[in-house]
Amino acid sequence: MTFASPPLRNESTDVQRLLDSLNDAWREAAIATGRLLVSGARRRADERPYLDAFLQEFGLSNKEGIALMCLAEALLRIPDDDTADRLIAEKIVHGNWDSHAGRSSSLFVNASTWGLMLTGRLVELPGDMTNDAGQWMRGLSQRMTEPVVRNALRRAMRIIGGEFVVGRSIEEALKRCASEPVLALCSFDMLGEGARTDADAERYTEAYASAIEAIAATRSSIDTSTLHRYHAISIKLSALDPRYSLTQRKRTLDRLLPRALELTRLAAARGLGLTLDAEEQDRLELSLELVGALARDPTTRDWPGLGLAVQAYGRRAPQVVDHITALASELRRPLAVRLVKGAYWDSEIKRAQERGLAEYPVYTRKCSTDVAYLACAHKLIAAAPLVYSQFATHNAHTIGAILAMRRAASNSPPLEFQRLHGMGVLLYDEAHRQLEDFPPVRVYAPVGPHAELLAYLVRRLLENGANTSFVNRFMDERVSVDDVVLDPVDGVRASLNHSTLSHPDIPLPPQLFSASRQNSLGLDFGLESTLKSLRKICQSHPVTDLPPFEPSSAVAPAFDAATSALQAWQQRSVEDRAACLERAADLLEAQRDTFLSRLVQEAGKTFGDALAEVREASDFCRYYAAEARLMQAAPQRLAGPTGETNELHLVGRGVFTCISPWNFPLAIFAGQVVAALVTGNTVVAKPAETTPRVARAFAELLHQAGVPKEALQVLPMIGRDFGEAALDHPDLAGVVFTGSTATARWLNQKLAARQGAILPLIAETGGINAMIVDSSALPEQVVDDAITSAFGSAGQRCSALRLLCVQEDIADRIIEMLKGAMDTLVVGDPRDLAVDVGPVISLEAARQLRSHIEEVSRTGRLLKVGRLPSAPPVGYPTAIDPGRYVAPHLIELDSVRDLTREAFGPILHVVRFAFGDLETLLADLRANGYGLTLGIQSRLEGTRHRVYALSNAGNVYVNRNMIGAVVGVQPFGGSGLSGTGPKAGGPHYLSRFVTERTLTINTTATGGNTTLLSLN
Ligand SMILES: Cc1cc2nc3c(=O)[nH]c(=O)nc-3n(C[C@H](O)[C@H](O)[C@H](O)COP(=O)(O)OP(=O)(O)OC[C@H]3O[C@@H](n4cnc5c(N)ncnc54)[C@H](O)[C@@H]3O)c2cc1C
Repeated sequence: MTFASPPLRNESTDVQRLLDSLNDAWREAAIATGRLLVSGARRRADERPYLDAFLQEFGLSNKEGIALMCLAEALLRIPDDDTADRLIAEKIVHGNWDSHAGRSSSLFVNASTWGLMLTGRLVELPGDMTNDAGQWMRGLSQRMTEPVVRNALRRAMRIIGGEFVVGRSIEEALKRCASEPVLALCSFDMLGEGARTDADAERYTEAYASAIEAIAATRSSIDTSTLHRYHAISIKLSALDPRYSLTQRKRTLDRLLPRALELTRLAAARGLGLTLDAEEQDRLELSLELVGALARDPTTRDWPGLGLAVQAYGRRAPQVVDHITALASELRRPLAVRLVKGAYWDSEIKRAQERGLAEYPVYTRKCSTDVAYLACAHKLIAAAPLVYSQFATHNAHTIGAILAMRRAASNSPPLEFQRLHGMGVLLYDEAHRQLEDFPPVRVYAPVGPHAELLAYLVRRLLENGANTSFVNRFMDERVSVDDVVLDPVDGVRASLNHSTLSHPDIPLPPQLFSASRQNSLGLDFGLESTLKSLRKICQSHPVTDLPPFEPSSAVAPAFDAATSALQAWQQRSVEDRAACLERAADLLEAQRDTFLSRLVQEAGKTFGDALAEVREASDFCRYYAAEARLMQAAPQRLAGPTGETNELHLVGRGVFTCISPWNFPLAIFAGQVVAALVTGNTVVAKPAETTPRVARAFAELLHQAGVPKEALQVLPMIGRDFGEAALDHPDLAGVVFTGSTATARWLNQKLAARQGAILPLIAETGGINAMIVDSSALPEQVVDDAITSAFGSAGQRCSALRLLCVQEDIADRIIEMLKGAMDTLVVGDPRDLAVDVGPVISLEAARQLRSHIEEVSRTGRLLKVGRLPSAPPVGYPTAIDPGRYVAPHLIELDSVRDLTREAFGPILHVVRFAFGDLETLLADLRANGYGLTLGIQSRLEGTRHRVYALSNAGNVYVNRNMIGAVVGVQPFGGSGLSGTGPKAGGPHYLSRFVTERTLTINTTATGGNTTLLSLN
């Protein structure tokens, strides 16, 4: 039994179905219980635990709250004092700390704020600090080098860590649980970030296994019938393998599943419950396949402890609950389900927008998630005893609703509630005091070293700290009790009345750019149905043979045709020309599979890269269509003396030559050509020698979309032959080029030597791109982003990362992680969906890269060579020459100056720098003359600004990867040796394709100034 995601309907339909699935029997009782709990808890506000009180005082709604969260997230992992001091000064100095003084009755939050109080408690308190706390905090920036301040704040963060984390080790946690009654029933969560390397995965598996043993050791008997009355363990599947994703399904089944089996078997043998946490929505199908495999394991058949978390915010949650119930029924083994609302809501929304999905995988309104939670709860309660329900919530209304649903159920099944450690304590305490037979409450209890776990937990908290969140409102006396326990069904119905069941401020991904243009459509690689159709594509669309190159003599007739078509094309309205581009974008999306297959087979792109390229080409069409309308729809009226009109017109220049590269044979070709066409030029285009078929196919789409054949001529030719003939042609009006700096220079010289008009050249060339990483950066994020930026597209992007510059204090750790992550990369034939790094474009390119590696390894140190493909994939008629594969390489250099040219392949150079040498490093980078892309990884705003200001890179990316610029969002292009500008996909690009003309008309010439004379 496999779980196949149902196609996502529109959100309103889903929410309506949720409403239809619920009766009203529980609604009044839910509100009544909710009120009781909130009012009772508010009366005992003084007793609330630190974390609850802290969240209320320092929520996300104030600067100080965010500053403290940022400190907590980063301070403990920063090894060097200089960076730690900067972070402290930066986060503390601008806060309005006085405004929080004395506002909370909690000692933890009070005493002129939390960090300060802790500082004071741990070190001898300076007099000025007690007298004027706010001033003292602000003064920290001047005293930031005082070890006393730094050490005190580090201690403070550790104390905060204690609030988030139950113990630094499982032994410490179990000891604490034995002495604190509120921790009598826990599910221990052992880890923070997911595995990035095989070594991480092994270590994490080991940690889980020892935790299971340690928990079991505290239990006197192995009695599975009482298993749900004892501590359990929670497991993140992403910790058990660094490549846990559907495209890596085989690897996941080969490596992750055995580890998960080992742990479930151990938990079964020791009679403990084990729950698989729910992670990102694109892992849902794969996670359910793993759950199925674990549930089918005959050795654990009699163990009722296997459970999984289900996220109610996921639009597929009701079907997931049905699937689990059917699985339990088929196997006749009870399963446990922890129902959560979901911890990654904001990242799910962002990811869906970035991926251009047709629908969000999660609801966009909080009340819809709440209703979905209740609809799933209703199903789960009805599924007992096949399913044991664990309701994880801190929401009083949700608790009240579940109790009422259980009362209404014929079997009144056993169930439990769950809360996060440090949160919901008062609420559940109140429930135990006021409600009879209240079910057991289990605590989700994070265990681990504070420095490692705090970063992860704080980010989760930031994600969940929204104003809509129950914990933010529950103790806030400014919000009435009735408002706190509002029935979400009423909330949804109220939205229904305004016909806005989806959030009006969260446009669907296709409508991200509002009315001006449609966003390009993406694909969800987390669905087996998507991957299945992609697998077939290359078989059903084999590539044709390379067409013969055109001779030099083909250039003149192409120019003649383009020149003859010019006037008619220019005279068509911009609206007409723009509509051709939009039709081409639609046609491209309709024929996406054909283009994907061409890109994969002709250019050696992975499916992910090929999809990104098709999307970029569609975006170029729609963006330039919208920009041209803005620019050319009407002449600009200029102010002047009365009696005349003055207008500025922008018109196409003539015949443009577009020369595009092989690394983006569709997107760059399309971008150049449609920019020229839409502004009223005709085009003679030369695609790259190795990839002319995809370019030709796109030109045919433009012709189908209404661009006259003569207006766009495509000539597959040898570059030099084309350049010699085209650049000398008298009808040439401009050149747009993307490729190497050397060729751009040659073109420039050719143009300068021409007789006749001086022509524009728009050139986009290469870069020696760096990523600057200081010691406040999160190592896992650095490694993810460096791997994607350096090795994605086999390093054959001009934006690719070439130089990773890491502050020396964390360099060893980052390098070790990078080496481990490189081991997990799959190099091979891109027709295989699991492949991350395809071949380089030609044998010659591979040869040059190998010689670069040899040469640079002599001055530097070769740190790591990734794996080459073991065997070609089966089922494809043509094989890629094995000589075209270049394994990912990591090479350490002493200085950024040691890299003097762009090596266009999967080679990453790493350089260490000292905290005080940042400016020298940036000067050295500037000295290479390029200025294309730059990555910055730092939690320090000051550092980010400084690096930005001192770099000349055209595209700067902070705390993310540095490739994949999106049209209209991150206009792309650099300066210096990296190109002439203007940026492709930006608002100024089209202006280079037009010439300006003014038209002045003397309106008095026909007899008088009628405008002036008719004034009253
Ligand atoms: C024991 C335990 C285990 C957990 N395990 C997991 C896990 O495995 N995986 C996981 O993802 N989470 C997990 N969580 C986290 C959990 O998802 C959050 O704590 C939970 O969402 C908070 O819900 P609430 O009922 O307490 O709060 P509420 O304030 O009632 O709900 C907040 C939730 O509403 C949702 N939301 C917020 N705004 C919107 C919006 N505009 N549109 C739609 N939905 C919105 C979000 O999911 C948010 O988290 C766990 C929580 C607990 C207590």
